[in-house]
Amino acid sequence: MARVYNFSAGPSTLPTAVLEKARDELLDWGGTGMSVMEMSHRSKAYVGIAEQAEADFRALLAVPADYKVLFLPGGATGQFAAIPMNLLRGKTKTCYVNTGIWSEKAIAEAKLYSEVLIAASSKDNQHTAIPARADWKLDAEAAYLHYTSNETIGGVEFHSVPDSEGLPLVCDMSSDILSRPVDVAQYALIYAGAQKNMGPAGIAIVVVREDVLGQTLPFTPSIFDYKKQAENGSMLNTPPTYNWYLLGLVLEWLKEQGGLAAIEALNTRKADKLYAAIDNSPFYSNPVDPACRSRMNVPFRIANTDLEKTFLAEAKAAGLVNLEGHRSVGGFRASIYNAMPEAGVDALVDFMAGFEKQHG
Ligand code: PMP
Repeated sequence: MARVYNFSAGPSTLPTAVLEKARDELLDWGGTGMSVMEMSHRSKAYVGIAEQAEADFRALLAVPADYKVLFLPGGATGQFAAIPMNLLRGKTKTCYVNTGIWSEKAIAEAKLYSEVLIAASSKDNQHTAIPARADWKLDAEAAYLHYTSNETIGGVEFHSVPDSEGLPLVCDMSSDILSRPVDVAQYALIYAGAQKNMGPAGIAIVVVREDVLGQTLPFTPSIFDYKKQAENGSMLNTPPTYNWYLLGLVLEWLKEQGGLAAIEALNTRKADKLYAAIDNSPFYSNPVDPACRSRMNVPFRIANTDLEKTFLAEAKAAGLVNLEGHRSVGGFRASIYNAMPEAGVDALVDFMAGFEKQHG
């Protein structure tokens, strides 16, 4: 078996131990004589799997009791629409911070349902720095303030929770959830697609404070109605059962790694090594303000773009794959989520040094 180091931004690498466990349980889960894929979502065995995943998620992120944890279809993009549908609560305006492409997608969707006020934008600096908090303009009449804690394409990450001046705070944590401890109590709602730090694509998690639920816009599809989903244990219809199970295996693995404080320490070490390799070389560069560089997605470039194809081909030959930058920005990007072992980052850093020696 030859597993590569897969630096894909998502769907992305999963812990090998998780895949092995899924393989071992594929045909017969827990002596039931059937695969999890074949179980009724109403069966005792499956409900146990689903509840364990929720309990583990709550424990890992220390989710307070007055928050619901929902497991939903539709990815993070589904939530871009569901959030205004659920959280407008009779208001008409929403506030969004624009720090990159994923913020912009959330904003475009929110504009279908609300008057969006851009509290701050980093568009003028090509999304390479988060605007100083002192320069943000919030509207006290807005239903909530939304931001993207980690821009997966630009590699820009918030390293503290912004002050929302009392507005309910909503955060897209798709690409950094579970990479570090978070004080959930500071948020009205946190959401994330699974396919970076939590499992395979096809399921998203929404963590929402109960007091903001119950005033959903009329005509909201039931599967996007958080209150109805909460009342039905996220099983208003047949949920993505196998993805939920795999997500549960990832959470179990994360607990075995020592939880979020331990994984944060590892993530910091991995990111520091990679940024040091970039910053200490005249050959590679990263445009992002060091104060808000992502520990999950590290974009980098070489001056001579003619060498990009060679870099990718030689990296692939060395077992380092999916290093191309997003199609909208080019260059390279190494996504180093929880499941990327430190040895993978070490191998990349070594490869980069060797490539520079040869071509620099
Ligand atoms: N937000 C962020 C920060 C993302 O990185 C992504 C996916 N790359 C999305 C939202 C959209 O997620 P999905 O494809 O699950 O809808």
